[in-house]
Amino acid sequence: MKIAVLKETAAGETRVAVTPETVKKLASLGASLAVEAGAGAASAISDADYVDAGAEVGPAAAVVKNADLVMGVQAPDVAALAGAKPGAWVAATFDPFGQRERVDAYAKAGLEALSLEFMPRITRAQSMDVLSSQSNLAGYKAVIAAADQYGRAFPMMMTAAGTISAAKVFVMGVGVAGLQAIATAKRLGAQVSATDVRPETAEQIKSLGGKPVFAEGLEASGEGGYAAELTDEQKAAQAEMVSAHIAKQDIVITTALIPGRAAPRLVSDAQIATMKQGSVIFDLAVAQGGNVEGSVADQVVEKHGVHIMGFSNTPAHLAADASALFSRNLFNFLSAFWDKEANKPVLDEEIGDAIRLTKGGEVVNARLKG
Ligand code: NAD
Repeated sequence: MKIAVLKETAAGETRVAVTPETVKKLASLGASLAVEAGAGAASAISDADYVDAGAEVGPAAAVVKNADLVMGVQAPDVAALAGAKPGAWVAATFDPFGQRERVDAYAKAGLEALSLEFMPRITRAQSMDVLSSQSNLAGYKAVIAAADQYGRAFPMMMTAAGTISAAKVFVMGVGVAGLQAIATAKRLGAQVSATDVRPETAEQIKSLGGKPVFAEGLEASGEGGYAAELTDEQKAAQAEMVSAHIAKQDIVITTALIPGRAAPRLVSDAQIATMKQGSVIFDLAVAQGGNVEGSVADQVVEKHGVHIMGFSNTPAHLAADASALFSRNLFNFLSAFWDKEANKPVLDEEIGDAIRLTKGGEVVNARLKG
């Protein structure tokens, strides 16, 4: 089986889907690897590193030619896949709800699109889950970036010149990114509180040394461990809780997402106006519509003396680690299904049907058809 790895083309994308470590491991399964020249450069991986690991390195057209499987961080344009075997697989993140035309184009081209963000949240797929590995790094980076923007220190410091009090950090949304944000802020010495709409997160917040702050009786658990959208009444209850809490916070990290929908609005301009001058809000959901009124991707916006920030692609700010984990997720996925005789992965129904978007010229995924 020939596996192709292309250089990412999306603006600001610094990651690469496959690192030399994974090249070696895939080669030991029996695959041959071809990597586009320069694909790893933004993740501190040279072409020579790929050659040493056993990959062929060359221009895009040669890399894609006769490929059985193309791997990407973000799905390449269909035009870049001309020359791949008919019906070739493409394993990447597709943003299937946001970029529906791309999915249709893959179907039309007869390609088999495997959307890594549709990996089911089941125990055996944990090691294959790119959303988790990338969100974890994003939660860390959000705190580091906010700390850098903040004009004060995080830990309490008792010095000869007097005492500096610890920063108060409020994390909104306690999924994978939020948990890592709590852990990182605690490690830096902040006083941390956090909220979610799934009540089971209260124990998780406490186990990391944070204080759960929940709107009375608010519960909005959706399918598969994800959150559901709040009713208007629930939104009002949450807004009341946030208004009472946020004015005392120095740093707010928002991470709330609802699959297939725009990110929920959690912080209003009126609430920002109650915060202290110099406070920082990092909106991790800015690329999905934003949790915070007025946040703009890749900009620091000042409103009422508060700095509001967020990156369009947070994992790309930690390219080397993000690539390493993404690549290990891909290897864990392919190796779990590798069939030695066929010399290729043979997917089972549970995971195959969950992640397959297109096959045989059709869009076949139930979440897209429904
Ligand atoms: P996510 O990125 O979809 O959302 C981030 C968080 O925002 C979630 O905790 C969600 O409940 C919260 N949220 C949504 N709307 C909100 C609102 N209005 N106010 C406050 N918070 C709000 O979440 P995720 O990180 O992908 O995790 C989702 C679930 O999947 C979790 O239960 C997690 O433990 C689970 N998970 C399971 C696996 C696995 O078993 N393979 C892997 C990763 C995550």
